[in-house]
Amino acid sequence: MILLVDLDGVVYRGKDPIPGVAALLNDRAAQGDAIVYVTNNSMHYRADYVDRLAGMGAPVAADRVVSSPRATALYLQEHRPGVRRALTIGASGLERELADVGISVVTANDAAARMKAEGIDGYSAAGRPQAVVVGLDPAVTYMRLAAAADCVRAGALFVATNRDPLYPTERGLRPGAGSIVAAVEVAGGTSPLVIGKPQPLLLETAAHAGGGAIDDAVMLGDSLVSDIAAARAVGCRSILILTGVTTRAEADAAPPELQPTWVVADAGELRVLLARLAAEGSRPA
Ligand SMILES: [Mg+2]
Repeated sequence: MILLVDLDGVVYRGKDPIPGVAALLNDRAAQGDAIVYVTNNSMHYRADYVDRLAGMGAPVAADRVVSSPRATALYLQEHRPGVRRALTIGASGLERELADVGISVVTANDAAARMKAEGIDGYSAAGRPQAVVVGLDPAVTYMRLAAAADCVRAGALFVATNRDPLYPTERGLRPGAGSIVAAVEVAGGTSPLVIGKPQPLLLETAAHAGGGAIDDAVMLGDSLVSDIAAARAVGCRSILILTGVTTRAEADAAPPELQPTWVVADAGELRVLLARLAAEGSRPA
């Protein structure tokens, strides 16, 4: 079985590990399950998660962390080989993930500087990229948006790591990648291809990274509108765990299109469920 595991609200909440989850995932990995972490967060590089998860005692390797920028890079590599250069609005994790699959990256910041210095449009300033990739850029500026919108209007493929409207921080809610994507969409006049949850591509790519097909995967997440919606979009089974953003009452009231296959309260209930699924899966037909 491939377990696609959301991070925030499932493995940890902010800086704090959620009790029992890392140890349970270790046991499942020892039993032969493939554990693949999936997150819409577009700012970090895979290796950043490896240290953090290993520090909590969770089983992890770099190729088993499929963040939205990593999934974007893998998607472009596999399905859009014509994309050799991309303009990015985002953080360094996005730039590194794209560079790792051989894409030449020009940041919207560099393109914006050239636009101003040379009085040229954003598409020329970016060196005529085949794609524009937009994630969360906490230092976004008007001219970075202008550079990206110029490229989209010039015909570059417009890709969004995700469309989360908000980004929760310790100081409250801030605009998420989706807020920046919306600005480029309006100014560029084109809607993006979206990789992250609740769209299906992140989970599809993650199942592939786990060495199997999506039919063999189970999505474990804490959000109905993100994790469970993505599982349903891609057609895999799902477990909602009530350690994050969703309450029992909200789970009970979920509309049919957001209903998970199973609901568990915590790591203890999750352990029982996964043991049962594994036993059923190994039973001879
Ligand atoms: Mg979550």
